[in-house]
Amino acid sequence: METDTTKGKLVDYRNLVNARRVAAGDDRWIDSYDPYRGEPWARVPRCTSADVDAAVAAAKAAFRSGPWRGLTPTDRGKLLVRLAGLIEANAERLGQLETRDNGKLIAEMGAQTRYLAEWYRYFGGLADKIEGSVLPMDKPSNFTFTRHEALGVVAMITAWNSPLLLLSWKLAAALAAGNTAVIKPSEHASVSTLEFVALFEEAGFPPGVVNTVTGFGPEAGSALASHPDVAKVAFTGGDFTGQKIYEAGAPTLKHVSLELGGKSPNIVFDDANLDAAVAGAVSGIFAATGQTCIAGSRLLVQRTVHDRVLDKLIAIAATAKMGNPAESTTQIGPVTTRAQHARILEMIAAAKAEGARCVLGGGVPSDPALGAGWFVQPTIFSGVVNTMRVAREEIFGPVLSVIAFDTEEEAIAIANDSVYGLASGIWTGDIGRALRVSSAMESGTVWVNTYRAVSFMAPFGGYKRSGIGRESGQESIYEFLQTKTVWIETNLSTANPFALR
Ligand code: NAD
Repeated sequence: METDTTKGKLVDYRNLVNARRVAAGDDRWIDSYDPYRGEPWARVPRCTSADVDAAVAAAKAAFRSGPWRGLTPTDRGKLLVRLAGLIEANAERLGQLETRDNGKLIAEMGAQTRYLAEWYRYFGGLADKIEGSVLPMDKPSNFTFTRHEALGVVAMITAWNSPLLLLSWKLAAALAAGNTAVIKPSEHASVSTLEFVALFEEAGFPPGVVNTVTGFGPEAGSALASHPDVAKVAFTGGDFTGQKIYEAGAPTLKHVSLELGGKSPNIVFDDANLDAAVAGAVSGIFAATGQTCIAGSRLLVQRTVHDRVLDKLIAIAATAKMGNPAESTTQIGPVTTRAQHARILEMIAAAKAEGARCVLGGGVPSDPALGAGWFVQPTIFSGVVNTMRVAREEIFGPVLSVIAFDTEEEAIAIANDSVYGLASGIWTGDIGRALRVSSAMESGTVWVNTYRAVSFMAPFGGYKRSGIGRESGQESIYEFLQTKTVWIETNLSTANPFALR
């Protein structure tokens, strides 16, 4: 791609602003690390507020005037559908880049990057189906209707664990609604986003509709989240950063949606198919090396089947193949950053100190072949009490807390005893119980006899400290629209001008 120029042995990737590839104004860079090798492999611009100003100005100009403004919703939809085809054609390459940059398994990335196309198809199809209404009026001489209008420039700030997926959940809906975008990916994994946006140019999106600024959160991120010309911030990341984004948007009263972290309960009742439940528990916590917002990091198991479930769980997790994420047989890759690696090990030490029983893993692997990478063994603690730090704080790594319970009421109470509410899982053969418990869960998603399922059709988002707003599904497009009410008086009169009409 034209964005690549090799400097030394690192590959330089540049931002896209107004259809031009640009470095930071003061030519500073951030190294991007390969977490498997523990060394930098690429560089991305370290943007400052001046770079953010330029990107927002481009997005604002594209929104206010120019070809994007003049497109019909049907034409916008066609562009999004064309983009979907390009995503499929480039899925393998983009998946490989993400694997290199954040250590996610190629075994997962191939399917995940192809699946992104569906968000653009779905919202492309929705673009010309957003209808206002003619209102039945209590004032008969008035003809009154509503229309849904784009907000303007939307800032999209994303996390490092699934950069393109998290971005697409926002971008597809925002563009279908007619907004323009400035994207700030995580400083730890920006490369796939910088490559991805080239496809928008190829699909024929006008200049300035999609722009990027890379950089650190407190520098580029904060300048973007507080920028007066940004109408909305759509954010994915940790809850404390989410709080800062909310505060940064307050002075200019921005629309804000937040997709934040979780400490999701995965509840196994004794009437469940235990093999399916154990497979779901493994997928919930060890897939993506536990670096997912929806990680089922608290496994609540009914005491009558507790030991059997634990044995099965250990048997599967103990054989998980750790290794190079670029190899298709690897099941557990490295964690993405050195800091995250240290934080996970610190949480493991805290769990041991609090009296949780480490029944699997609990440290770094001894295999010298993995020595350079940021690996953590799949780790299981049993005997966890919900008041322990390991059960309360998001770890964002392959660490599972197993908590025993006796009754359905107790399971619900433990599950909801968390500041988070992103997702929960329920494993049961009893449909009545499935309905009762799913309605009692304080979480934006509940999976029954499955875990970690997402779709472009299904709204996703958090309760409590897990977030505000929803992404995916038809309703999510309204997160990027505002309603205008138009009143037309059909009977001109000179009513009392000093009274409410
Ligand atoms: P993070 O909050 O550290 O960073 C997220 C983004 O915010 C990055 O781009 C970062 O540069 C930026 N940022 C940091 N400080 C900022 C500031 N002051 N102003 C503006 N921007 C700032 O999160 P992370 O470590 O990249 O990702 C892990 C977190 O993301 C976890 O908590 C995880 O649960 C959450 N997450 C949530 C979802 C979801 O959909 N709910 C999905 C994936 C990850």
